[in-house]
Amino acid sequence: MSDRVSTPLTQFKILGQPVHLSTDYVSWLLDRLQQGIGTHVVTMNAEIVIQASHDLELATIISNADLVTPDGSGIIMALQLHGVKQPRYAGIDLGEDLLRLAGEPAHDYPVFFYGGKPQIVQRAAQKWATELPNLNIVGVEHGYLDAEEQSKLLHQIQITQPKIILVALGMPRQEIWIRDNFHLCPQAIWIGVGGSFDVWSGVKNRAPEYIRNLNLEWMYRIAQEPSRWRRALALPQFAVLAIIERIWGKHRLAPH
Ligand code: UDP
Repeated sequence: MSDRVSTPLTQFKILGQPVHLSTDYVSWLLDRLQQGIGTHVVTMNAEIVIQASHDLELATIISNADLVTPDGSGIIMALQLHGVKQPRYAGIDLGEDLLRLAGEPAHDYPVFFYGGKPQIVQRAAQKWATELPNLNIVGVEHGYLDAEEQSKLLHQIQITQPKIILVALGMPRQEIWIRDNFHLCPQAIWIGVGGSFDVWSGVKNRAPEYIRNLNLEWMYRIAQEPSRWRRALALPQFAVLAIIERIWGKHRLAPH
């Protein structure tokens, strides 16, 4: 039996989906990296909660994930309804913090970038290579591979054994892909980072801080990418269900 254990984080359920509470996810992840314990991270938002409510495969992936972080402001508001104070931690910020951790001279955590359009992922990786000269990038691959290229990618991941694997395929594709391939690097942090490579490459803008502070980053993303409006329909649905759950539902706080 392994003697490797990591401190449990408190888990809260929102509409049946877990979220882990912490003010320092990075230290928790660093501890696991140092102990050689792999971590599948899901960055949770209202849209994922709604999708998981009618997608058993996604719900199962989320409930098996080692860490579910509060990515969306809807999650923070739902927690507040239950009196739980938890700062928001956007997936892109967690991705950046992990890269900075890996780029510290004292650390040797090889990083793999997978997903996004070909030039986008190259530019995103280049940005971080320039900003963090000690960052050890062992692989950069775009997210539109055919079957043969996909099996080469998996081989490359297995050979290079990155410790941080950033996967930008969009939800739920990235979550499913991580579930299917986690065994290749069981000691790594695997995290789906959605559209982060688009932002890091400079082709899309992150919402300015004042918009983020107003919990309106989702609206900024729709303004930038109007085709996302349909996805935003999950937000009012989530808000109504979260209020109903607060009034009539049960919620649980438990260590995970
Ligand atoms: N993407 C990809 N392969 C695909 C479909 C999408 O690499 O087959 C990438 C796409 O180029 C974009 C990211 O996945 O960079 C999806 O970003 P989005 O903001 O939609 O992420 P989400 O909000 O769904 O997490």
